Amino acid sequence: MKNDLLKLQLAKEKKCPVCGANLFRGQRSNELRRYECGSVFAVSARVEAIVASDPCPRGSNVQASLLTQLALGGKAVAA
Ligand SMILES: [Zn+2]
Repeated sequence: MKNDLLKLQLAKEKKCPVCGANLFRGQRSNELRRYECGSVFAVSARVEAIVASDPCPRGSNVQASLLTQLALGGKAVAA
C-alpha cells in the first residue's frame, strides 16, 4: 500500500526534483527514476520511503546560485 503510493509519486517526477534535469532517455521504471544530471531516486521497500540512491550532483551549484542571487539582489546569472 505505502509502496504503491510511493511509486505513484515517483512516477510523476518527470524532472530531477533538485535541478530540473530531464529523465534519462530510455528510463521507464516507476520504481527508479534516473535523470540526465546523474541523480537517481528510488522507492525503497525496506524503509518505505523514496530515497536518493545517487544524489543530484548539481544540488550544490543550485544552492550556490541562489546564494549569489540573494547577495546581489537577483542580478546574478545561473551557475
Ligand atoms: Zn539533478
